[in-house]
Amino acid sequence: MEDFKGQSILNFIKELPNDDTCKAYLAKIKWQDGFTCMKCRHQQGCEKAGHNYQCYGCQHVESSTANTLFHKVKFGLQKAFCVVFEMSTSSKSVSSIQMGKCFDIRQGTAWCFM
Ligand SMILES: [Zn+2]
Repeated sequence: MEDFKGQSILNFIKELPNDDTCKAYLAKIKWQDGFTCMKCRHQQGCEKAGHNYQCYGCQHVESSTANTLFHKVKFGLQKAFCVVFEMSTSSKSVSSIQMGKCFDIRQGTAWCFM
């Protein structure tokens, strides 16, 4: 998320307007040094639709959110990005209650995520 330091959240949303672009962004970061399979450590694979990667070694399909903090977020990926964005750019500490209110997610969910 370093790319977005010092930027406004409006700009951020413009860059990543939906869950799909967020997923693409994650894929870019995750596999910037090349693909390594989570299961068999094979390093060859091919990109699949939906920003997934399929391993040539074991045929395992890995999603760009797997093994990241965005894995299985209950609310949308873009919302999750916004929460992280707020947390990383805000100078004061942000509570999960505020986050929940800001982004319309349950406080418990926000807390778990954070
Ligand atoms: Zn594999």
